[in-house]
Amino acid sequence: MSETVLLVGGGGREHAIARALENSDATLYACAGNRNPGINEIAAGFESLETTDAEAVVEYAESVDATLAVVGPEAPLAAGVADALDEAGVYAFGPQAEEARIETDKSFQREFMAEHDVPGCPDFEVFEDGEAACEYIDEYDGDLVIKPAGLTGGKGVKVIGDQVTAEEGKAYIRDSEYDRIVLEERLVGEEFTIQGFVANGSLRITPAVQDHKRAYEGDEGPNTGGMGSYSDSSFQLPFMTKADSAEALDIMRSVVDALAGYKGVLYGQFMLTAEGVKVVEFNARFGDPEAMNTLPVLETDFLDVLTAARNGKALPELAFDAQATVCKYAVPDGYPTDPDAGALVTIDEDSAGDALLYYASVDAREDGIYTTTSRSYAVVGVADTISEAEEMAEDALERAGTEGLRVRHDIGKEDLVQQRIDHMDELRS
Ligand code: AMP
Repeated sequence: MSETVLLVGGGGREHAIARALENSDATLYACAGNRNPGINEIAAGFESLETTDAEAVVEYAESVDATLAVVGPEAPLAAGVADALDEAGVYAFGPQAEEARIETDKSFQREFMAEHDVPGCPDFEVFEDGEAACEYIDEYDGDLVIKPAGLTGGKGVKVIGDQVTAEEGKAYIRDSEYDRIVLEERLVGEEFTIQGFVANGSLRITPAVQDHKRAYEGDEGPNTGGMGSYSDSSFQLPFMTKADSAEALDIMRSVVDALAGYKGVLYGQFMLTAEGVKVVEFNARFGDPEAMNTLPVLETDFLDVLTAARNGKALPELAFDAQATVCKYAVPDGYPTDPDAGALVTIDEDSAGDALLYYASVDAREDGIYTTTSRSYAVVGVADTISEAEEMAEDALERAGTEGLRVRHDIGKEDLVQQRIDHMDELRS
């Protein structure tokens, strides 16, 4: 039976999901707040709606006779969109709101790890009282990380000793309106991501990726949703060993075992430290940009993963093309603090050359494609080595021109990758 899949979300990640289903035996429909031109081209229909409006999503799913749904972003998961779709008989690949708390509530996430003895949990404390949190900062021997408990688009976390001083951290807590704050041990090392498909107790992991959250080159500036990322043909990163990958997999396995009933993508964000692999956070969906590193090299039909999940079966073993990938985002000038929307985007699939092009938060209007206040588009090079993939991505950016846009050109460059390797060598010595 041919499937009808509804894709919820309109970013670069969802464009990558749409591409992963493009050659499957499925008819794709999509809905999002912005009209993503890349998804629009692939999908048989595209509805503009608020993706956190569960009723509107279900209504659209029913109107197109969807047999499956994939929920891309976290906000609709938190709003119970997967619950509503499941209830309407449209299997959603994405956790229900209760299980999505692994991402959407950082205090729940840490307490869950402690309760289930999930390895790799940093020291942490949860505070409802801001003053008590400030006192804890004064008394703690070492640097702490301040994490508002709810969703902040990856931008609410402040790392004392890196992004802010202890005094600035305390002022941040006093000025904030968050009702719960997690304070946790600052981890020092190299970050990496492993994303896995989860359903019916199966966990199938995809290659490790390193994202770059900071806005400016050299890892300076505020945190963003992610400026770009790379993966290697070995499926682990150049600063990792096989034992590190195995440790991360063990951690993910223990989460899946503890979260019986979880379905969708489990995203593990890890810090490789001198003491081994620690958990920075879990997300309940693909990363954006990380989906654009892993889905282009997935050889297994993504639809087979979705149908096995829905049909209560073990997920298929995954096959990947042994290629490196480098993803670079073009973001509006001023992003993330004071972004300028309204620049005309001139790149398209043809002008991206050998690189893949993924549209993100852009809006297709009658007279062209315009930037909004969030990340605009990503280019992804896929090649034998990280360096070749990086050149491919740069080549696309050069052709596109980036007027009104900004890019972190250092992502995937040999220098930066080598710095990561040296940093880990230094910590381990
Ligand atoms: P999160 O939203 O939890 O992913 O945090 C955003 C970013 O803050 C992460 O990607 C890390 O770079 C940083 N971060 C979060 N938790 C820690 C930690 N315990 N130690 C050091 N850095 C952290």
